[in-house]
Amino acid sequence: MIIDTHCHVYNSEMENAEEIIKEAAKRDIHIILNGTDPISNKEILELSGKYENVYTALGYFHSFADEITDEDILLLDSQLSCDKVIAVGEIGLDYYHTKENKEKQIELFENMLDLAQKHDLPVIVHSRKSMQDTFDILKNHDVVGSMHCYQGSAEMAQEFIKLGFYIGIAGPITHSNNKKIRKMLKQIDINHILVETDSPYLPPEDKRGEKNTSLNIKYIIGKIAEELGMDEDKIIETTTENAKNLFKI
Ligand SMILES: [Zn+2]
Repeated sequence: MIIDTHCHVYNSEMENAEEIIKEAAKRDIHIILNGTDPISNKEILELSGKYENVYTALGYFHSFADEITDEDILLLDSQLSCDKVIAVGEIGLDYYHTKENKEKQIELFENMLDLAQKHDLPVIVHSRKSMQDTFDILKNHDVVGSMHCYQGSAEMAQEFIKLGFYIGIAGPITHSNNKKIRKMLKQIDINHILVETDSPYLPPEDKRGEKNTSLNIKYIIGKIAEELGMDEDKIIETTTENAKNLFKI
């Protein structure tokens, strides 16, 4: 069993989402779908009720920081009690796209962390050009989780691990020009690593130009195994165990 710990395989992101989910089931790939807004969260709840290999992470993403209302927060609060909800995500901060609404992004992120604490759920965190703020905010909350598609330094990764976070490794590990992430990987204990595709985004090197799917998780596992000089089976066994521990699957 492999667990794709972060992806967006639902209809508003991918036309053939359900085909991918069924094909993944045949290959014993389990999928944690991450919501970003009220629409995707609703879609995910429906899919997780329908497919055994789908788990649910619900949250509001930084891109919607200016739009999310108090009512939306109340709705999410009620949805987090549903069956198969295993995390709050995708949530976080992104100063790459815009820094202008930084205060709003932080406010939404903190609201999401408060909900995670209330429901005793781990979080799945996006952080781009905002690593220090992300760390400082997480440090002040009693939460554990995953740093999804982590691309920071090994030193910072160790700090997140000390807080109880796992380091999510996605497609960029396979990109020929991304030596930094491979160097970082070698300095992290495999017991703190999760695998993910972030599909339909971030296709691995061999699938560049195509829409990414959870079926490509094998490229990420293969690359980690190659870099660490370990068997692929061992990588699968360990990262699946890590995901089960964190998300209580
Ligand atoms: Zn994502």
